[in-house]
Amino acid sequence: MNRTGHIGFGLLTLGAFVYVAGTRYFEGHFWDITLAYLLLSVAPDVDIVLGLRHRGGTHTIAGAVIFGVLTSIALNHLWAISYITGFAVGFSATFLHILLDLTNYMGFRPFYPVSRRRLALRLVRSNNLAANTALLLSGAFAFYHAVHFHSIPLPGI
Ligand SMILES: [Zn+2]
Repeated sequence: MNRTGHIGFGLLTLGAFVYVAGTRYFEGHFWDITLAYLLLSVAPDVDIVLGLRHRGGTHTIAGAVIFGVLTSIALNHLWAISYITGFAVGFSATFLHILLDLTNYMGFRPFYPVSRRRLALRLVRSNNLAANTALLLSGAFAFYHAVHFHSIPLPGI
């Protein structure tokens, strides 16, 4: 998917998590973690920016583990968030990015280096406007309702 779809899927999954679990795992940093999670939901596509092979190492389970470790260090330094929570933020955001990209036509190797098998579900093109827009709208809707349901104050208000 493109950036719009990944941000939408990030909002959708985070909204679902908050709806079910509330904010108890956010260690008092709900909006900081939300920002980090949404940035990380597009982070695997940094390969395009860096000129690396698209959907290579950043689109693997091993890559998601590395994103998790880097996030745990960064969030601990920034806001003293526990390493386990930081890892969960980085790993889940990038892992879900990979899962969403599997719905596209471009095959890649999510289990590399354990397996070189290429996977692609070929359900929708990554630049499909309707699919990406639907993800953004449903994600915004789900996230807004989760925040509203749990009466989470908006930052600066
Ligand atoms: Zn991607």
